[in-house]
Amino acid sequence: MEIIRADHSGFCFGVQRAINMAFEAAEREKVNGRRVFTCGQLIHNQSVTNRLSENGVGRIDSIGEADRGDVVIVRSHGEPKSFYDEADRMGVELVDATCVFVQKIHTLVHDAYLKGQEIILIGSADHPEVTATNGWCEYQAVILETPDEALEYVRMRNESGRVDPPLIVCQTTIRQELLDDILRVFDSAGIIYELKNTICNATRDRQDSCAALAAKVDAMIVIGDRNSSNSRKLFEISKKYCKIVTFLSDVSTLELKDFKKCNKIGVTAGASTPEWIIKEVIAGMSENVTGNMEHNPMMDYMDDIENSLRLPRPGEIVDGTVHQVMDNEVIVNIGCKKDGILPKSEVSLEEGQTLADVFKPGDAIEAKVVKSDDGEGGIMLSKKLLEINANYRELKEFMESREPITVKLTRAVNGGVIAEYKEVSGFVPMSQLSDKYVENADEFIGQTVDVRVLKVDDKRNKAVFSRKSVLVDDKKKQVQEIWANLNVGDIVEGKVMRFTDYGAFVDIGGVDGLLHISEISWGKLKHPSEVLAIGDIINVKILSLNEERGKISLGLKQTQPEPWSLVGTKYQIGQEIKGKVVQIKEYGAFVELEAGLDGLVHISEIANKRVENVSDELSLGQEISAKIMDIDAERKRISLSIKELLKEAPAAEAPAKTEE
Ligand code: SF4
Repeated sequence: MEIIRADHSGFCFGVQRAINMAFEAAEREKVNGRRVFTCGQLIHNQSVTNRLSENGVGRIDSIGEADRGDVVIVRSHGEPKSFYDEADRMGVELVDATCVFVQKIHTLVHDAYLKGQEIILIGSADHPEVTATNGWCEYQAVILETPDEALEYVRMRNESGRVDPPLIVCQTTIRQELLDDILRVFDSAGIIYELKNTICNATRDRQDSCAALAAKVDAMIVIGDRNSSNSRKLFEISKKYCKIVTFLSDVSTLELKDFKKCNKIGVTAGASTPEWIIKEVIAGMSENVTGNMEHNPMMDYMDDIENSLRLPRPGEIVDGTVHQVMDNEVIVNIGCKKDGILPKSEVSLEEGQTLADVFKPGDAIEAKVVKSDDGEGGIMLSKKLLEINANYRELKEFMESREPITVKLTRAVNGGVIAEYKEVSGFVPMSQLSDKYVENADEFIGQTVDVRVLKVDDKRNKAVFSRKSVLVDDKKKQVQEIWANLNVGDIVEGKVMRFTDYGAFVDIGGVDGLLHISEISWGKLKHPSEVLAIGDIINVKILSLNEERGKISLGLKQTQPEPWSLVGTKYQIGQEIKGKVVQIKEYGAFVELEAGLDGLVHISEIANKRVENVSDELSLGQEISAKIMDIDAERKRISLSIKELLKEAPAAEAPAKTEE
């Protein structure tokens, strides 16, 4: 005999959560000494009710039966708004186990009511969930149970002339087919509406997997309480597809003789059937199974059950399937008795991204367990923690490969700055923030920069980064590239950075070259500042390169024509020139016509009289006028005469000597 359990059966997320919250409240209040009640039956299952009662959880049927200080558990179906108001007024503490999917409907309905929007609620008027939901819009919702009721509503609406779109929500446990049939009525009548499909997947999944299983087995066992409508529904579905169907409340009513001739038996259970009852029924069948036991699939299944009873520990990585995606959390089936809750805060989302953009029901998901109990009966999961593990692994790889990563510098702390890499926060020490001295880290905050990973300690959640290392390497690379592109003879642009007595250092795009004082001008200079200023942008010629020693010699004068090369075009014999005495010798004085171009006034050509000492007539720096007597460009000689000019102007005196 093969026993096959339906893919979806037993407690749904909401019921499991409500039961967990109830048992936790019972435990807590054993210490506090307060009375604990459920208002109505928590779930339609007598054995659960009995266990709660054994743990001190009583039952009341209206909030008015409670006293100040009592604790009342709100069941997963939810309660109307007036219930909460009344509890508040009475001083009764509520443990709200309303299923989160039902809470969402309450919010939708309440918001629509406050906006004055008409509300249509599809479901059974006498179902407690529908009654509670209607209580969030002052019982103004139009409740439709059948397509015929929808037709009647459409007729009345048309008569009233109302045209504003109503909000349509559903009881969580109705069949999709009912919603589709009713929407068809609306569509045919041309009614515009705002639909929020609030049918819960848990019910649909249980019904669909029950139908699929019933169609392929010889007999079906439906485990559930006869008062549970969803268990009864599973019974009806099973009967549709399978000839032998048995409804069991627990193992005590199991009659194995009914299945004597069956090879395959399917098992399903309502959303209010606890796992322990399902386990007992399957175990009860196992004891009576005879025949080929070589491989009993049920034994595998028992293992699955054992697994499902074990709760994963914090830090454990679990696989699961997305069950439902809400605005602020994702419900994940992780194959154990509690569902996993993945809060929005534990998922890395881009700006503007929602959980629904990332997850959809049925998606396989891996997450890390944060807490085995999130305080509301679920297992708290985190994707971020999983990413952090992966992020640290990545960082280790980057540390080994020395490949830089991009981080955001978020805040200054003592001795450095915190840098965010994905989900990991690392530290950049002050000394590693820049390749220059940093006095105040604040200027870096908010910047996105490249860093190198220096250290990773994933056990202590620590990583150390260095921006300096990247900058230094970048600079080295840049310098190498610059050197590779430099050639002797190239004219390059540079910036005058600093002076020394022997020249100026010029930055030619990342490397400094020396512009020796003798290479600045064709004339003679005492200091580079005579022609240059710090910060000047100038074109210089590369005179020599020594990459090994990192030395570059530059020339500025080489970018201008050598004055002697133009002498023939600028000066002629007989031309009167003005110049400055730059050197005095025994045999005459050198006069600078322009930078790098000197002429000689021989002692015999200084005055109309005999001159004994040149310095009696001329002094250094003196401006004089003279006549060009001869030009020898080849030997770089110009002969000048002051006397000749004096002859031409007999009235003029010999040039008066000026003081040095
Ligand atoms: S059936 Fe769905 S809505 Fe109802 S309690 Fe279960 S999970 Fe919540």
